[in-house]
Amino acid sequence: MGSGNKAKLRLLPAVHEVVADLSLREEIAANYSPAALTWAVRSVLQKTRQRILCPETSPEIGGSQPETAEEIRVWVAGQALQELQSLSSSLKRVINATGVILHTNCGRALLAPEVADYLAEQAKHYNNLELDLETGQRGSRYDHIQDLFRELTGAESSLVVNNNAAAVLLIMNTFALQREVIISRGELVEIGGSFRIPEVLAAGGAKLREVGTTNKTWLQDYREAVNENTALVLKVHTSNFRIEGFHHSVPTGELVKLGEEFGIPVVEDLGSGSLLDGTKFGLPKEPTIQEAVQEGVSLVCFSGDKLLGGPQAGIIVGKRELIEKLKTNQLTRALRVDKLTLAALAGTLRLYQRGEAWKIPVWGMLMKTKSKLREEASVLQNTLKDLKSLNIQLEDNYSQVGGGAFPTAKLPTVVCALQPLNGSVTQLEDFLRKGEIPILTRISRDKILFDPRTLVADDFQIIVERLKEWDKIQA
Ligand SMILES: *Cc1c(COP(=O)(O)O)cnc(C)c1O
Repeated sequence: MGSGNKAKLRLLPAVHEVVADLSLREEIAANYSPAALTWAVRSVLQKTRQRILCPETSPEIGGSQPETAEEIRVWVAGQALQELQSLSSSLKRVINATGVILHTNCGRALLAPEVADYLAEQAKHYNNLELDLETGQRGSRYDHIQDLFRELTGAESSLVVNNNAAAVLLIMNTFALQREVIISRGELVEIGGSFRIPEVLAAGGAKLREVGTTNKTWLQDYREAVNENTALVLKVHTSNFRIEGFHHSVPTGELVKLGEEFGIPVVEDLGSGSLLDGTKFGLPKEPTIQEAVQEGVSLVCFSGDKLLGGPQAGIIVGKRELIEKLKTNQLTRALRVDKLTLAALAGTLRLYQRGEAWKIPVWGMLMKTKSKLREEASVLQNTLKDLKSLNIQLEDNYSQVGGGAFPTAKLPTVVCALQPLNGSVTQLEDFLRKGEIPILTRISRDKILFDPRTLVADDFQIIVERLKEWDKIQA
């Protein structure tokens, strides 16, 4: 080690000195314990020492380099604070101004505020997850949602697992291990995030028996494929795409009749799975969960955090006998959900039960009318009108459902379109995304679009503050 390095090391402050400096600042003392400050300062000093000793293997510190002992002390304090801030917030709240309601990158469905409160209460206290309060005996965690699903879907029984991919996997592994599953070639889909029907079937140990063609599959195709090794017929909702033009698929009811004729269960992966009929809100016709159950399907599976508007989960409803069989599979234990998921799901289902689906954010957002959206966009425009560095207009546009649901549905909306007068749209987009509470927007033809459809509670205020900051920097 050279003497220059020794001199540099000697300039580094002691941990307790920097902690004392930081503790003097009221807002820091209020937010961080002395232990947290000590940890952060020690970590920064360790990295700095490392950097002085072996500059080639350590990351660049960046910025102008502090020289004097005093400058170094201030610099270390600043770095320690950054360390604490980044530590506390890798996964954080963001504002979704993109107008994509079920945005997988942003965590899909939001929970209703009262469901979130109920969830918080369940998280802070012990609960009766697997306890029958009547008898004092052990109960089942699934009992808490059993009656709700029976009432809402008409199905005899239900089971909840980690997500819908897990639901499909579990069904395959339970009923089709080493046996054949008949499925139309038009339904061998890939859903975002690497869920591919043929691969999930294979992972579950089932053999794929493809029938029909990409665009047309007839009942006769299914019938000809049935043999003594057939385990079940699977119908998959094509979710994120639509075939236009010349096509045919077999209605669920006809598959159920075929299944009954041969004694083979028919399973439907509905994907999004909605309890409400979307046509009332201008969406295309899609089978609801209740309709699939009514058709006589043996098992229906769907996601908890798509159109249902609950937590991430995979829900299976259907015939009691088959659900009981699923419960005996060891995989069910591996795929089981925790008390928080069950609480969020039960809370969400109770809103449907009480006829208050509009309180579920996904449906609240879907139901927003264009005139309401125009009103919200113009409030934002008016609040921002004094900002000199931005040109702000209202424009007609479309929001999206997202999450692979209703891929072709166009939800009319009114957006606030911003053009920075200096600086580029990409710079502004970047600035918005990198704030304390990141704001995600859409760029279209050199403008930044804010769609009020997916904004909630105090999002507006935070957007306004952040744009004022931008304006100040530009001035
Ligand atoms: C989204 C989807 C899945 C996967 O559901 P996750 O809950 O994300 O695991 C499976 N099948 C279909 C048809 C889907 O649309």
